[in-house]
Amino acid sequence: MSLRVDVALQREGFSLEAAFDASVDETVALLGPNGSGKSTVVSILAGLIRPDSGHVELDGIRLDDVPPEERPVGVLFQDLLLFPHLSALENVAFPLRARGAAKVGARRRAAEALERFGMAGRAGARPRDLSGGEAQRVALARTLITEPRLLLLDEPTSSLDVAARARFRRLLSETLRTFPGVRVLVSHDPVEAMTLADRLVVLEDGRVTQAGTPEDFRRAPRTPYAAELVGVNLFAGRLERLPDGAGRLVAAGGELTVAWPPQASDPTEDVLAVLRPADVSLHRECPEGSARNVFHGRIEEIAVEGTRARVRLGTHPALVAEVTLGSVSRLGLAEGTAAWASFKAVEVAVLLPQGTSTGTLVG
Ligand code: ADP
Ligand code: MG
Repeated sequence: MSLRVDVALQREGFSLEAAFDASVDETVALLGPNGSGKSTVVSILAGLIRPDSGHVELDGIRLDDVPPEERPVGVLFQDLLLFPHLSALENVAFPLRARGAAKVGARRRAAEALERFGMAGRAGARPRDLSGGEAQRVALARTLITEPRLLLLDEPTSSLDVAARARFRRLLSETLRTFPGVRVLVSHDPVEAMTLADRLVVLEDGRVTQAGTPEDFRRAPRTPYAAELVGVNLFAGRLERLPDGAGRLVAAGGELTVAWPPQASDPTEDVLAVLRPADVSLHRECPEGSARNVFHGRIEEIAVEGTRARVRLGTHPALVAEVTLGSVSRLGLAEGTAAWASFKAVEVAVLLPQGTSTGTLVG
């Protein structure tokens, strides 16, 4: 079983051209900033919006002319749409009734579905009397009741508060793991996507800018958004050769020294370079030693995550360093003060543009 999407749509002020695949043995996260077109893709897959051109194919069958109610697609929409005048049980039974199932059988199956999500005791409740987490469970039960072959979850946790979100995420994880079909999770939350999905498809401004495993993204993010996502430093610019096996990357925000990739021609445009924050050292005084890259700048932000801190520096280029909390206090690092940052040329992974070489990481 698999899903193949290749669609285009033109709207005033927005154009979508998205192609991606998903197979039954993986959860795919469709990830991107707000307004990038994720929900539009969901609506196209559900059959609520017709693309100007292209196709949606599930298990080798084109869905293009199949009306929404006949598609084997279960959707949990972003803005939760439980029917306010129906009970939880009637909401879950509704898709079965709409497909002509007899009332008694539909209610029995709905009751079983609610039971499965720990909602048996709330079967008679109206949506307005349900908490956010309860409503989302009912919505999920309703999405699954028709036993769809494609499960589409559009930002399933975005309407929940932090505590309810954590609980619902566990349920989601279990649901995604056991669902016997293609699963697409739509999210703008990197943590959610990275933890629940096997593969990420990033949509930016209506275009797929990168697709791959979380590991692929960590190793070689291809856009600033993707780099931000995995929390690494990303530089883009022209690579020029230096003596002694080194290269200079001239990026928009500044220059850095990298190891010269053997396959590169001199110069090479559109080179990407990735630097892990943990490979950036911080200092109070200008560091001595062999590091080729030494920068001075203001500490813009210190964000604490557990026992580590991510330090954002207003250097040229801007850098993010990750250090221990011990280092923060030992060095007396504070927002607004200045610090030195250094890293070795070999710690910068250079990614040559596709076409000029294999496009794999070196260094
Ligand atoms: P996402 O789900 O990634 O946040 P959407 O698919 O909702 O993005 O929106 C994509 C683009 O389409 C945005 O520019 C948005 O403003 C526009 N858009 C969304 N819904 C409508 C609508 N009903 N009418 C007109 N434009 C819309
Ligand atoms: Mg959306």
